[in-house]
Amino acid sequence: MLLTPIIALVLFTFATVYSYLEQQESSLKIENISKDYIPVLQIGNQNIMLFEQVNQQLKDAIVAAELAWLETSQTPSQQLIDNFNTLSRYKHILDEKYVGEVRLAFLKYYSLATELAKTAIAKDSILDINTALIDELEQTQQTSKNKLVQFNEDIKQRFLAEVQQTNQQMDNLLLTTSLISIASLAILLLVTLYVSLTTRSRIKQVIMRMKQLAQGETNFSHRLELGKRDEVSYLMYWFNKLTDKLEQSYLEIERVSITDQLTKLNNRVRCDSFLPAALSKAQKHNSPLSVVIMDIDHFKRINDTYGHLVGDNVLQQVAEVLKTEATGSDFIGRWGGEEFILIISNLSSQAAYQKVENLRVAIAQQNFDDVKHISASFGIASYHNGDTQNALIERADRALYQSKKAGRNCVTMDSSEA
Ligand code: GH3
Ligand code: MG
Ligand code: MG
Repeated sequence: MLLTPIIALVLFTFATVYSYLEQQESSLKIENISKDYIPVLQIGNQNIMLFEQVNQQLKDAIVAAELAWLETSQTPSQQLIDNFNTLSRYKHILDEKYVGEVRLAFLKYYSLATELAKTAIAKDSILDINTALIDELEQTQQTSKNKLVQFNEDIKQRFLAEVQQTNQQMDNLLLTTSLISIASLAILLLVTLYVSLTTRSRIKQVIMRMKQLAQGETNFSHRLELGKRDEVSYLMYWFNKLTDKLEQSYLEIERVSITDQLTKLNNRVRCDSFLPAALSKAQKHNSPLSVVIMDIDHFKRINDTYGHLVGDNVLQQVAEVLKTEATGSDFIGRWGGEEFILIISNLSSQAAYQKVENLRVAIAQQNFDDVKHISASFGIASYHNGDTQNALIERADRALYQSKKAGRNCVTMDSSEA
């Protein structure tokens, strides 16, 4: 696309230079045509004048009855014949045959005229000459004159025609080069307009996206379409890279903000936001939902006996067991301290109970570092239509308390569910 203005500019320059050179050439051509035709035209004019002189001198010779005067009439006639010889130099513009015809017509007239003049002088009267010969003389005189005049006229016409043709060619060329120049300028204008408009709209896209992100947009899925390879694409490319980085950082911050750093499970913040969503989903689809609170038994003792670091390690290993036992749709989080929460969706309360029982057994059977065996107690509350988050948690807590009361390492379903 960027090459188009260059091509248009080259075309424009070429058309201008070409038109200038052709104009020069045309002037030269007209000059050369003039150099050829003007002398020929001058000779033609001179010939007509000389012809009149020849006529007059012949007449004068007859009137004066002086043969010697005929000699003087030879000077213009000789000059006329010399002129015909000179015309042979202009073969490139003259038809030799045509010049020959004009010359012959003159010679025919001249020889007949001199012959009759001599006869008239000899007889002392022109009236004694045969009228047929006089007629012939008049005819040849007229023919010769006509041919001389016609010759001049033809040359004039051809001269004008050639100048006109050259001018016409020049006009055509000027028209063509002007059209090329106008077309080049139009292309230049259109391309410049197109480039500036598309560049403007693409830069606007970058600005709009930048504004959205600066105003806190957290949907990073949109990326700018690069299109053609130019500086704007380069800008878009690096803007997309910046968006990638921003998205990664955002996701990382989001992940850290909802993750418990010790166990890598969902933290309390995440639990608090997940539970209302799970509740409304269960309500909307009328699907089962169970909330489980788990508390490690006698955890304080572990800390007291082995130290906090071992206690931390136990919490991490418990989290691993939870992750292993949970299935895809289960939500696991650290509720606080040594307490964990499980939100089980789409399972009946019996199935949820069984799942938690399996979990209890898995923890009880797990071989923990240093402390070897531990146990945990569980309280389950299943969602009832209209349950609030707090009511559900409270019932799960109550059930957990029951488990503790019952001697720990057991699972209790909230009594209101039984
Ligand atoms: P029970 O069987 O009745 O639940 O007894 P318990 O000892 O587990 O309960 P209690 O609430 O008395 O003790 C919980 C302890 O958990 C107290 C606290 O120091 C410890 N704890 C809470 N958070 C952490 C933690 O992040 N790391 C460690 N190592 N200990 C923690
Ligand atoms: Mg506790
Ligand atoms: Mg405990």
